Amino acid sequence: MSGGIARRDLLAATGLLPLAANATATVESQIRSGMPVAACDVIDAHAHVQEVAAGALWPRGSVELIEDMDRCGIRAAVFSHLSAIMASTAAELRAAHDQSSEIVRRNKARLRAYIAFQPHLALDSRKELDRLLDPESGFAGIKLHGPIHRYPMNGTAYREVYRFAHEHSLPVLFHVYESGAEGVPVLARIAAEFPNMCVILAHLWPGSGPPPELLRASPNLYADTCASSAGRGQIASIVRNCGAERIVFATDATYLNTGGQLAKVGLADVAEERKRLVLGGNALRIFRGLPARASL
Ligand SMILES: [Zn+2]
Repeated sequence: MSGGIARRDLLAATGLLPLAANATATVESQIRSGMPVAACDVIDAHAHVQEVAAGALWPRGSVELIEDMDRCGIRAAVFSHLSAIMASTAAELRAAHDQSSEIVRRNKARLRAYIAFQPHLALDSRKELDRLLDPESGFAGIKLHGPIHRYPMNGTAYREVYRFAHEHSLPVLFHVYESGAEGVPVLARIAAEFPNMCVILAHLWPGSGPPPELLRASPNLYADTCASSAGRGQIASIVRNCGAERIVFATDATYLNTGGQLAKVGLADVAEERKRLVLGGNALRIFRGLPARASL
């Protein structure tokens, strides 16, 4: 924007900034005032980066991710590298993970990464789990993408991941291949068999919202909020039906736009305390070692 003034600059210039950033403000009032959310910790459990050429039409690097986080008031994000998800060789997988690790090292106070498990490179992916398990590597969980890899939940290679995640009490961000009701009993069995593995179902699986009875039966299942579309009142009704403690804020940035994903949760008709659980409280419980809030 040139020649104009951003709303937050205007507020700062008129002395209203401290009022808008008041720690007693609600998430909704801060979003409506055009400010980054500071009322609570906002943690994005599902982000992506991919280093592309400078000047690209759709830049998706870690610099752009942090800029978006700053603009919206997202304190920390856990991302997976798109080149790791798309890797077709062990070398590509390893290189993308090394780059993820380096990105976290540069942004220790803001970012953690997922280890992407590529089931068609099962042996090499398994080695990556061992290599990157140490939290010092910068990784906080495992990412599974069933639709891209066209791989079913009960596939042999995935069972290896479940065992590993259970053994090490790791979170798994899981975009499941089976999107319909037929996946429910399969997922319920997996969740029961590996109770120390915490599974976050990506994109409010199966899109319109996770079945509440599935979440009630499986205490280690959660659902994240990012999606490319949202119905009116969707988030409020999912929180009401599933419980705020089982829903986890996510953006899918830099693939999707950060602001819309935050607004649909921040402006939802949900009580402030429950909203804060969804926006960050749950993620801080699920992910060990996320940067804690500095101060307010
Ligand atoms: Zn994603």
